[in-house]
Amino acid sequence: MPLIESFQSSGATIDCRRVLLLEMTDTDGFRTWSECVAEALPTYSPDTVDTSWLALTEWIIPLVLEQSSIDTGSLNSLFERRIRGHAMPRAAVEMGLWTLEAMREDEALAVMLARRSDLPASNRAPRSTVMTGIALGMMASPDALAERAAVAVGEGYQRIKLKVVPGRDVDFARAVRQRIGEKVPLTVDANCSYSHSDPAHRTALDELDELNLRMIEQPLAHDDLVHHAELQRRLSTPICLDESIQGEASARAMVLLGSARVVNIKPGRVGGFQQALAIHDICERSNIAAWCGGMLETGIGRAYNVALASLPGFTEPGDLSPSARYYERDIIVEPWTMDEHGSVRVPLDVPGLGIDVDIDYVDELTVRRITFAAR
Ligand code: MG
Repeated sequence: MPLIESFQSSGATIDCRRVLLLEMTDTDGFRTWSECVAEALPTYSPDTVDTSWLALTEWIIPLVLEQSSIDTGSLNSLFERRIRGHAMPRAAVEMGLWTLEAMREDEALAVMLARRSDLPASNRAPRSTVMTGIALGMMASPDALAERAAVAVGEGYQRIKLKVVPGRDVDFARAVRQRIGEKVPLTVDANCSYSHSDPAHRTALDELDELNLRMIEQPLAHDDLVHHAELQRRLSTPICLDESIQGEASARAMVLLGSARVVNIKPGRVGGFQQALAIHDICERSNIAAWCGGMLETGIGRAYNVALASLPGFTEPGDLSPSARYYERDIIVEPWTMDEHGSVRVPLDVPGLGIDVDIDYVDELTVRRITFAAR
């Protein structure tokens, strides 16, 4: 699917989103869709569209269909025993199964997620709307980026996030800050592009620390919780971890080490909703803020993110832009929209995902398809 605005981060520029979808049916005829959020290239995650296709078709789907019955709990323990890595294709199956369970229980996915979280019962209602921020890719000049950010503020976005890399960071963030004022929450996301040992990088991070940013997302390497902890002690701006949080274990390690004060929870990155819920609960109990990031999803993947972001621990605006931010035409019948206050409505009154897939358009875009049936 071609993107309306190409999206440049430290790792790659994306003009066109390759999309991997799953349609799942259970023995009672409940049916839903899910989206594997892996990208074409292994720049953000080791998972790609092609490795996910391989993992799904060779290992994951055959393993699931061997079981005489399965629910989200037994699926997660099966994956833990039998599939190492491949979090994004695992998540696509796992999250689809959550939707099927919600449909079987005749409740909205968001309601079921909140009900199954580990929080006190008084704190277990999903929100009816979620606040939306925008992630802006890198642009040619600080002025161009500041202009784009000002447009986004006018559209109602509740938080502006800028992609940065060493050398294209402080001037850009400062220009945006000056243009949008001090009141609009502003964050930067480095996607692991700074080195803890490079003096110029340390200086840049200290300068970013002066810009009243809401958070600095994933400045250092994806596997380096220790130096994030050191950096968090030096900076007054909260550090947010994205790539570093692979599941419950890394979230606990982050809390113990003090590596960050915010987590960007993407269910695809952590293998699905069970892990996303566990991380949400750890954050809530440890006074760590959480929000739901995006992977340039279609309207299908967005439905999963909106449901997750409706949980009470998601205290910061998510990357939950309306369909029109990314795609001329989305693959769902009613595109996601955002009101002028940057809110997206959570479909709480429909069992399951609360969207209708535009199957004719999906068919039109489809380049490869495979069907599996249980024996
Ligand atoms: Mg990020």
